[in-house]
Amino acid sequence: HDDRIKGCGQVGVPQAPERSDRDQLALEEHLREDIANDRVNLHYQPVVTNDGTVSIAEALLRWRHPELGAVPPNIVLDVAAEGGMLADLDACVLRTALREAADWPTSGGKPVKVSVNLSGLRPEMPDFTDIVRTAIDDTGIAADRVVLEMVETVLAQLGPEPRQAMTSLVDEGVQFAVDDFGTGYSSLARIKEMPTQIIKLDRMFVSGVGSDSDDLGITRAVTELARTLGRYCIAEGIETNPQHHLLRAVGVDAYQGYLFTHPLPADEFRAYVERASELGNGRSAGKRVR
Ligand code: C2E
Ligand code: MG
Ligand code: MG
Ligand code: MG
Repeated sequence: HDDRIKGCGQVGVPQAPERSDRDQLALEEHLREDIANDRVNLHYQPVVTNDGTVSIAEALLRWRHPELGAVPPNIVLDVAAEGGMLADLDACVLRTALREAADWPTSGGKPVKVSVNLSGLRPEMPDFTDIVRTAIDDTGIAADRVVLEMVETVLAQLGPEPRQAMTSLVDEGVQFAVDDFGTGYSSLARIKEMPTQIIKLDRMFVSGVGSDSDDLGITRAVTELARTLGRYCIAEGIETNPQHHLLRAVGVDAYQGYLFTHPLPADEFRAYVERASELGNGRSAGKRVR
């Protein structure tokens, strides 16, 4: 069964021609029920700063089907999209992540932010700001601990009104991140006007940083762009020490990747932050604890 699901789709491929209608319906039915009951399982992956503290944790969906087992996020998103419940899934993840993050310990004396990926919940929807504000109010989390990630192509398409909706949330402390930066479609003019505070450089460039001088050059250019625009620059998908050292030299603000840890269940993530803090102002504390 597991193999069947794994064969259903590839990361980045929205279509799932190999999935039968019956599988789609079986998945859809359970997903709809879990969303209705706020029953989504999330893992958290830390974003580690240059002083070893955790500044943000990204919430990542880990959904299981009772018979088919673990279903990778890209397939869950695909199923949700086909079932017309992508925005509902996002809202459910948002509520769950904010609830779980509300009482996280601090790291190096600073609050740890929680970052949520949005695919179906879009700033151009009339109830976008209401959904975000309600999730914040209901969970009691400070608005300035909430980060919302969207991919470049989605952000680039926004008109003035949705950008204004984002700005009103930014005024309340919410931050927006451009996810998978460098792999979407947007002009520099669009990037300049996006009300985003964070840029997440895609793993595609990060993975080549030690071996491909073009990737290192692109990373340098993006870091410089982020600095120029006053954006916090995160490198995604760091797997090796050489990558970490090169990125540090380039001047990236923070790092996320398997080198530090895989995404962790909520309780293990909390323990990770606590141990990182115990090691105290320890340099690279985030790394030493695992
Ligand atoms: P993303 O937002 O770019 O998330 C980062 C992905 O990279 C995650 O994959 C994470 O597990 C993986 N990753 C982290 N560090 C490393 C590394 O060092 N090496 C490698 N090879 N991979 C690393 P994941 O969890 O499979 O999620 C895939 C994508 O699915 C995410 O990409 C995001 O676009 C989407 N996604 C995941 N959870 C959610 C969710 O709750 N809501 C929405 N709308 N999208 C989600
Ligand atoms: Mg993301
Ligand atoms: Mg990403
Ligand atoms: Mg991605």
